[in-house]
Amino acid sequence: MDPISRLAALFAEFPGIGGRQSKRFVHYLLKRDRAYLNELARQISSLQEVIFECERCHRYFQKKHAAAGNACVLCTDTERDHKTLMIVEKDSDLEALERSGTYKGVYFVLGGSLPILEKDPNRKIRINALLDRIQSENDNLDEVIIACAVTPESEHTAEYVVSNISSLLNPTMTQITHLGRGLSTGTELEYSDADTLRYALEGRK
Ligand SMILES: [Zn+2]
Repeated sequence: MDPISRLAALFAEFPGIGGRQSKRFVHYLLKRDRAYLNELARQISSLQEVIFECERCHRYFQKKHAAAGNACVLCTDTERDHKTLMIVEKDSDLEALERSGTYKGVYFVLGGSLPILEKDPNRKIRINALLDRIQSENDNLDEVIIACAVTPESEHTAEYVVSNISSLLNPTMTQITHLGRGLSTGTELEYSDADTLRYALEGRK
C-alpha cells in the first residue's frame, strides 16, 4: 500500500470517518508545514504516556504526579459521596455533569453505547468491568443512577445495563434510578447545560 493509502486507511478507522473523508485528511496534511506535522505526531505518540484510564471509573485522566495511584481525583476524593454511583456512556457526559456542579457522587464510564443488534456487548461497553465494580461494593451503594442519553441506542444501553446489574444488587439496599427520565427525547448529556442537568438530576426516578 502506498503511504497516502496507508495513512488514509488509519483515519478510516476513526468513528464516523469514511473513505472519502480519510483521504481528505491526508491531502490536508500534505499541505501543512513540517512543524504542524511534527507536533501532531508528537501529541499522538505521547498520548498513552500522559493519559491514563482510571481503574475505578474508567475515565481518561492526566496523571499529574508519578507517585499517585491509578485512580483519578474524583474517585479518590473523600469529600464525594461514594454510596451514589452514576453510570454514564462517555467521558464527555461525565465532564458535562462535573461542569454543572450538581452531582457529588462517583461515576462509572461505559465507554460508549450498545447498538441494538450487537452480539458482543463487551466490545462496545465496559460491562464486565461494571459488573466487577458493582460486585465489589454492592453493600456500600445506596443508589445507582443510569445516566444514558434519550436516544434509541442509549435507551437500549440503559436497559441492558439495568438487566445485568439488578441481579447483583439488593433492592432493599440499593435503588436504581434514571437520569434520562428528567430529559426530553433526543437529549445528549454532553450538550446539555447546567440547568438542564440539575433539573434532570433532581427529577430522576
Ligand atoms: Zn476515576
